[in-house]
Amino acid sequence: MAESVRTVKRQVEDCLSIDSRTMRKNGVFGDHPIGTWEWPEYESRLNYSFLDSTLTLQFSINGQTESQIVNTNTTPCNYGHHRHWFLCPGHECGKRVAKLYLVDNKFLCRHCHKLNYLIQQCRKTLVPVVNMSRIELKLNWPSGGLVPQHKRLCPPPHMHKKTFALLVSKYEEYEQQRDSWRGSLIDKLKSRL
Ligand SMILES: [Zn+2]
Repeated sequence: MAESVRTVKRQVEDCLSIDSRTMRKNGVFGDHPIGTWEWPEYESRLNYSFLDSTLTLQFSINGQTESQIVNTNTTPCNYGHHRHWFLCPGHECGKRVAKLYLVDNKFLCRHCHKLNYLIQQCRKTLVPVVNMSRIELKLNWPSGGLVPQHKRLCPPPHMHKKTFALLVSKYEEYEQQRDSWRGSLIDKLKSRL
């Protein structure tokens, strides 16, 4: 049987990103308009320059030099300070954002890159759990996702065998989804430890 392929959204946590707040703290928009921005944990860096509200980024990926221009603007905040924002350079985007993520050689906002947060992936594991609970109720099974094998073999009185078989197979499908999503989530969390 062919394996089914599920499209997984890329995750924010897996991407290099630049943050206008951290850049401001490090003087990128002020005293240090030219320099190198580093991600020591990824052994990565890029060159930047900031002039007339425009941030120019230069970096190399697989030996190829890329450069990208990101416009910025500011909004006033307390005590006469200003908050700096990136204007997402995505095609027809221009959203004012604090963070841009590097995917496919481009820094864009998370909407443009269709990035997802790990927490949303967590929620996804709840969907099969909820569906499992519904079936447990219907079949008068113990709740909590731990249904012993023998219970899966005897339909309750008055239930058609076919209906029962269908519910059991649905249940086992959700069970598999839950386990595989849980497994991949645990792997991801472990890789961050
Ligand atoms: Zn965007």
